[in-house]
Amino acid sequence: MRKAHCSRIWSRGALFIALMLLGGARASAQMQAGAGASAQTPGAGRGAVIESANGPNAASQRAKPYVVLVSLDGFRYDYVKKYSAPNIAAMAARGASAPDGMIPAYPSVTFPNHLTLITGLYPEHHGIVANIFYDPARKQRYAYSDSAAVQDGSWYSGVPLWSLAEQNGMRSACYFWPGSEAEIAGKRPSYYLKFDPLVPNDQRIEQVLAWLRLPEAQRPHFITLYMAEVDGAGHEYGPDSPETATAVKFVDAEIGKLIAGLDALHLPVDLIVVADHGMETTRGNWINLDQFADLSHFKTEGPLMYAPNEAEAAKAFQSLKGASDKFTVYRRADVPAELHYNSNEREGDPVVIATGPYPIRAHTPAPGEPDRPPAVGQHGYDPRLLPTMKALFVATGPDIRAGVTVAPFENVNVYPLIAKILGLPAGKIDGDVNVLQIILKSPSKN
Ligand code: AMP
Ligand code: ZN
Ligand code: ZN
Repeated sequence: MRKAHCSRIWSRGALFIALMLLGGARASAQMQAGAGASAQTPGAGRGAVIESANGPNAASQRAKPYVVLVSLDGFRYDYVKKYSAPNIAAMAARGASAPDGMIPAYPSVTFPNHLTLITGLYPEHHGIVANIFYDPARKQRYAYSDSAAVQDGSWYSGVPLWSLAEQNGMRSACYFWPGSEAEIAGKRPSYYLKFDPLVPNDQRIEQVLAWLRLPEAQRPHFITLYMAEVDGAGHEYGPDSPETATAVKFVDAEIGKLIAGLDALHLPVDLIVVADHGMETTRGNWINLDQFADLSHFKTEGPLMYAPNEAEAAKAFQSLKGASDKFTVYRRADVPAELHYNSNEREGDPVVIATGPYPIRAHTPAPGEPDRPPAVGQHGYDPRLLPTMKALFVATGPDIRAGVTVAPFENVNVYPLIAKILGLPAGKIDGDVNVLQIILKSPSKN
């Protein structure tokens, strides 16, 4: 519900099908040519790695393990069982998993949650409170599709894991991750790329493996990898569709290739596969908040409302209060504490929280303005009200205990887990290292 579905040349579904075909085409081209792991790919011209001049790994870091953190966008926690995902299921059996899911931060959308995973902070503390939002103090808009904004480090707070690694003389690399294109906390990953959804997953995996084949001095110890197909299918066709089942099998096969490649390296690599959020079938047509309240003087982004002054905020709150059973409205300061969504101006005021999978936006499009129906599947909702927002979590490797399952936990706790594996000093964060302690073999490497 958080996304303004603005000008998209590709529909999500078309994009995910294209990506799967591209990946498949490459795989068969490789098989025919008998190509090795370092072969060039049909994504040629795409996937240019940017290197930062961060220097070699410090001597003290070289004996540390490696962590590969993979995000499968929109991979709902129950897809492993609902659809067949044998490679991820095998990972869960060999390692640790959260069978009832990992709890995303609110709002359960891509940018806020990737930043939460990578900083250990709730969105209102790392600053990326939605995929698209307005900052009343800066008088500027942040949008995940605006490359100038995503590359501008001044939007972000906290210390991403790659910056924490680099601050400690440990090399890091990102094959895509929200925030990875910006300088944050004074650092950039040693290796990263500009986001390009058309790079085939096989090419992304080959690059991750190539990074791990670098000489020890240059070899990154912390690596991120991102794949979007499951989210695309979930939006276009819904979480219960055959297309989503196909996308789940497709990314599961990619995870299988990654595992095979990692095994062949004989390095101590811990592999952690997560999602940012789940997916739910939307119900009903758009709910336009301006049908209940006069928002003509507000700035708005999707469902977010930024009042010109306190009087207008109070008036809109009164108009929206009790107006529909499909949402609850709060003055920002009164949003329930467990949502951690009440202290940042970027969240707007008042704040509307959907009570079910309802598509909500502030404005009715003007007559003649292009509009589109809500997506079949959507996320962004409160995971406490909609458990289908919960995300995948599975981990394996030399530091992870075998066959451990954990109850649902908040994704702010992934950061201290990874910092602990890498023996890096996590500073003041919202996550707690004790929450996932149980999945680690040895208590501490610090
Ligand atoms: P959402 O619907 O919130 O799950 O957003 C998913 C979309 O975010 C994907 O389909 C991508 O197009 C986009 N996305 C993911 N990672 C990035 C990134 N690093 N930079 C820009 N856009 C991204
Ligand atoms: Zn997402
Ligand atoms: Zn999505």
